[in-house]
Amino acid sequence: MQNIDEIENLIKLISKLPGLGPKSARRIVLKLVGNKDELVKPMANILAQVYKNVTRCNSCGSLKSNSEGCLNCENIKEKFDKICVVEDLADQWSIENSNTYKGYFHILGGTISSVGTKKENLLINSLVNRVKKDKIGEVILALSETVEGQTTAFYIKDSLKNSNVNVTKLARGMPVGYSPENLDDGTLLSAFKNRSKLNTNFD
Ligand SMILES: [Zn+2]
Repeated sequence: MQNIDEIENLIKLISKLPGLGPKSARRIVLKLVGNKDELVKPMANILAQVYKNVTRCNSCGSLKSNSEGCLNCENIKEKFDKICVVEDLADQWSIENSNTYKGYFHILGGTISSVGTKKENLLINSLVNRVKKDKIGEVILALSETVEGQTTAFYIKDSLKNSNVNVTKLARGMPVGYSPENLDDGTLLSAFKNRSKLNTNFD
């Protein structure tokens, strides 16, 4: 088969998406080019809109549309005294769907040593500010059971050492390499219930 540059470039891009290898990327691209009017055209439009209008909230790290405020920050009527810190929005969605936790969320946007993630982009300063501003009593770290997740946990703990706040982490039992996104509701519930202190200023 002859290589068409546009197609090859699209396959390369799509195979960077989570869960997709070159083979499934190729299948997706064939489906797309076979349905240019139904798929490629509206998708190109929507992607352009997303690129222009959807940004990351500087305070909590969630995604927001420029035409409205951040749903995570501004639409919460209830006051909470807990913040759950996760790596990405998918983790927040899993935790929300499992109904195991009621409180604020803070989305770091990665971990310290993950490729291409700089400490400055992880919104740790804004976490410290939120803890102060919202008089938070507990920061729950729901990070993945990886070296990067644990390094990030200790970095956050250190950043919060002057804040009067308990820092807890989800109970062990989360399989190594897993993040909250991969856990079923039962495991999440017990990980939240049995969370343990990582640091306290009251000791
Ligand atoms: Zn926000």
